[in-house]
Amino acid sequence: MIQRKGFGMRHIAVLGSTGSIGTQTLDVIRHDTEIKVDVLAAYGNVELIKKQALEFKPHTVCLYDRDRAKELKDQFDREGFECTVLSGEEGLKEAASMEGTELVVVAVVGMIGIAPTIAAINASKDIALANKETLVCAGHIIMPLVKEKAVRLLPVDSEHSAIFQCLAGESHESVSKLILTASGGPFRGYTREMLKSVSLEDALKHPNWSMGKKITVDSATMVNKGLEVMEAHWLFDVDYKDIEVLVQPESIIHSMVLFRDGAVKAQLGVPDMRVPIEYALYAPERVSIDENTMPDFERFSSITLQKPDMEVFEGLKLGIEAGIKGGSMPTVYNAANEEAVKLFLEGKIRFTDITESVKAAMSAHRYIASPGLEEISKIERDARKFVKGRFDID
Ligand code: MN
Repeated sequence: MIQRKGFGMRHIAVLGSTGSIGTQTLDVIRHDTEIKVDVLAAYGNVELIKKQALEFKPHTVCLYDRDRAKELKDQFDREGFECTVLSGEEGLKEAASMEGTELVVVAVVGMIGIAPTIAAINASKDIALANKETLVCAGHIIMPLVKEKAVRLLPVDSEHSAIFQCLAGESHESVSKLILTASGGPFRGYTREMLKSVSLEDALKHPNWSMGKKITVDSATMVNKGLEVMEAHWLFDVDYKDIEVLVQPESIIHSMVLFRDGAVKAQLGVPDMRVPIEYALYAPERVSIDENTMPDFERFSSITLQKPDMEVFEGLKLGIEAGIKGGSMPTVYNAANEEAVKLFLEGKIRFTDITESVKAAMSAHRYIASPGLEEISKIERDARKFVKGRFDID
């Protein structure tokens, strides 16, 4: 059991509870008698969310998929389990802003995470953010709102958590550069030619991290790093020219900060999402359900750092371009990628078609400087349609 002081009973909502980050978050919470799960939400996994609900006894559960939500509600009714069941986007927003909840873990995948995050901030909840799309597409809306509502925005991503940890006790003025590390994915060292013939199976074999399918593919294209550069820009208020990416194939250095005086701080550790999840839940305290695991430093004769090959991995190059352009461009980048990855996972397009599609969508896009939520949704739909159109898929 987790032993800690000073928090008292905390009430938490976990959005995306059936995914990789969600289940690992619940693993931590399971060991903490001073965290009460008020709300669980997921896309449509009835079986798993039901199991989680029976264990954690939230007062509210939400499934985005309406038919699945109804199925769940019927099962709860039959079995006499008392729990409010919400559904759809409205349900997700309601689930994110329930009275009494202090912290909302946003671990849903994709752009459906944006609206509930905004709802939660508006309701003055602290946010543990694992959803990348929120800041990528709506950073210009989220960050001023975070300031206005004076809530905490805690990163749940190994790189951003690393930077967040390096920045503890430091002033914004003393930061010179953020150095985001990347594993380089399964195709590190490949040429463009070699990438043309890689299979879905190859793309799903990440060398160091065990994650969901979408992010594993994003890691292979390095689109993931493009998204993370944009997130870092918003989270830490640092210009794009001061954010660098270095490939660190062993995934031991999770990211670094260069300070004005030339000092570099890095956060190291075994590649395990448990650490960023726990830091988001307990920062600035360090609390863990595991015995501290020291990386096997002796196994590495050296730790490698190299510049990424942006000509081969255009996913990263396009991401930085989208970030610098700002406005609606990051949404196009992200939505085109989401759609292309979906088609790739369905076996309908090739690996290299993913970044080709993103590139084409970005050049076809008519830029908007500061899109609102409605516009972001429309830009998303258009970008998805554009990508499907490229392959004659409806
Ligand atoms: Mn990451």
